[in-house]
Amino acid sequence: MAPKHHPTPLSGGDRKALTKELGKARAMTGILAAQSAEMRAKGAALIQQADRLLCESWNERMWSDGEPIDPSPTIDQAIAGGFPWLEIQCSRCKTPNDVDLAALKHPPTTFVHDLASRLRCRKCAKAGRRPSATLLQLGWQPRHPRGEV
Ligand SMILES: [Zn+2]
Repeated sequence: MAPKHHPTPLSGGDRKALTKELGKARAMTGILAAQSAEMRAKGAALIQQADRLLCESWNERMWSDGEPIDPSPTIDQAIAGGFPWLEIQCSRCKTPNDVDLAALKHPPTTFVHDLASRLRCRKCAKAGRRPSATLLQLGWQPRHPRGEV
């Protein structure tokens, strides 16, 4: 693309002024872009904090009353907020389990509370039952070491 053409002013003073204004505008391009990037990074950090607080709020409700499970964070909010694990318990046989939210095939916009009816206990499935999961807590790591459940 050819550089943009600015008609040359007739007077020398105007020509000088135009050169100065063009220099300023070119400098502003970089300054404004840097400010935009900085604000965007701040915004992303704030969103991450909001996600973390949403997870902590839900955890407090689960710990104190255990219900209602709705509203809850979405899978991607939980992961972004630093809580990529969901601790559950089978509502029938009480077997505990840790769910790796990042490994789920559900869309990341799925709400955590919607998982209650979708996560199945392997033990009960073998017995031909499909009880729902009791949701306990979101965690930053699995509570039960691998292989225990
Ligand atoms: Zn079970």
